[in-house]
Amino acid sequence: MKLCRVVDESSQVCYAAEADGVFRKVAGDVFGDYSIVDREIRPGKILPPVVPPNVFAVGLNYRGHARETNKPLPEAPVVFAKATTSVIGAGEPIVLPAAGAACVDYEVELAVVIGRTCRDVPAERAGECVLGYTVANDVSARDWQRRLGQWVRAKSFDSFCPLGPCIQTELDPADAGLSCTLNGTLMQDSTTADLIFSVPQLIEFLSADLTLLAGTVILTGTPAGVGAARSPQVFLRPGDTVTCAVEGIGELTNPVIAAEGAAAQSGGAGRTWGS
Ligand code: MG
Repeated sequence: MKLCRVVDESSQVCYAAEADGVFRKVAGDVFGDYSIVDREIRPGKILPPVVPPNVFAVGLNYRGHARETNKPLPEAPVVFAKATTSVIGAGEPIVLPAAGAACVDYEVELAVVIGRTCRDVPAERAGECVLGYTVANDVSARDWQRRLGQWVRAKSFDSFCPLGPCIQTELDPADAGLSCTLNGTLMQDSTTADLIFSVPQLIEFLSADLTLLAGTVILTGTPAGVGAARSPQVFLRPGDTVTCAVEGIGELTNPVIAAEGAAAQSGGAGRTWGS
């Protein structure tokens, strides 16, 4: 089932189950008990599929991506966080920072949506804590990553976490195709079968003595083909369109725009924070 978070005809935010373009209202709480009401709604807008209390992400979790970045396979998941304020939905623009970021990259990822608050979850029971899966774009300012030596700031600019278009509750996360196209050109094309740490392993690792609140989103890593690893390198520019897709979930498309006043503030790029 595909759960979408939408604005309905009465301007109310609600969840709806989508099938073949028809949306039916969800009653109850998708993070508790819920049911599908036999009432069709016509959403005015599709919102990000969740308002997460936390967004965790995993770096270097595909063999192909580790190869293209000349990094050894990690012995444990490389975990970082993204600001929850970076979340946007399908169709909303990725805004290139006014503070100056010349090397903004795309990263298609399978994202897990935690369905109930949990802690100390063994891998074999991880599925019990998952509501479903969505598509993420872990937008990353490579120049900020390099300059600061850590990832959180570079990946937390407003709009740097597109999520959507829905939460798929019936996906096998062990073998799902995923891709990213930039202006119609295929840039990433892989499958979660190339993951180094599986979704159950990631949930076990993350939840050890750490409470995963219901609604928490976990980005599971990106496959090979990122712009920074290409020759020549490819980075996002105003006017671009990025589409991230995961088989069985759908497509997450976002335009890229410059921040308002970016030209006037471009001196920000000259402030060499951390150098
Ligand atoms: Mg990533």
